Amino acid sequence: MQRQPLVIANWKMNGDRQLVTAMAEALRESAAQHADVSVVVCPPAVLLPAWQQAAFYDNIQLGAQDANEHVSGAHTGEHSLALLVESGASMVLVGHSERRQFYGDNAKRIAAKVNHTLNESNLTVVLCVGESAEEREQQQTFDVVAAQLQEALADCNNCERIVVAYEPVWAIGTGLTASPEQAQEVHAFIRNWLQEKFGPSGANVQVLYGGSVKADNAEQLFAQADIDGGLIGGASLIEEQFVAICNAA
Ligand code: PGA
Repeated sequence: MQRQPLVIANWKMNGDRQLVTAMAEALRESAAQHADVSVVVCPPAVLLPAWQQAAFYDNIQLGAQDANEHVSGAHTGEHSLALLVESGASMVLVGHSERRQFYGDNAKRIAAKVNHTLNESNLTVVLCVGESAEEREQQQTFDVVAAQLQEALADCNNCERIVVAYEPVWAIGTGLTASPEQAQEVHAFIRNWLQEKFGPSGANVQVLYGGSVKADNAEQLFAQADIDGGLIGGASLIEEQFVAICNAA
């Protein structure tokens, strides 16, 4: 099975209704150029309804940046899967490095979010993994990535609704992109890991690269054999940049 190119915008805590309208319009106008690419936008959760109204061309899907691992209840400030689905989300990012670093998403919580999403909803999980600069320097990249995959996916026995995003922490928001060769090396490792865990269907899992992807480096990254698209932060807030990245996929 051929893996479909996938580009996901992660707006983080940025954007507003005006940008929703402008970005939806830019994507609609350029749709013919990236007709074979799945485009997903993960805005802050409160902007999902605005995107639901604006995303009038079918190729845009919506995603959430995080979801709580409980069904409902006394979890002030959190969003349940049901609420996110009601607001149009069909994907959810899990284990983004900013959540691991600053918002208490440890290995146990990430596994709980993955399992809850796969077992209690139809959403696709985009599992984010990646090493820090220090871990790379100490040549621990493969060990760190394997441990993160193992911890998060230990209880999963099917990978139909799983996407993996390799995002080296040192490349996120820093302007330091992994070289296409550096990224491909880790992607090939992730692909092998997935095939060992899930069998032949592991070959169908989309593995995305994230970390300072811009219009001028996207094409080279996406040309690598095991890079199926990107998870885009900063450049997903600028229409020309994001459209160009979608075109490159
Ligand atoms: P960046 O962020 O493209 O701004 O580096 C990527 C991400 O955090 O998903």
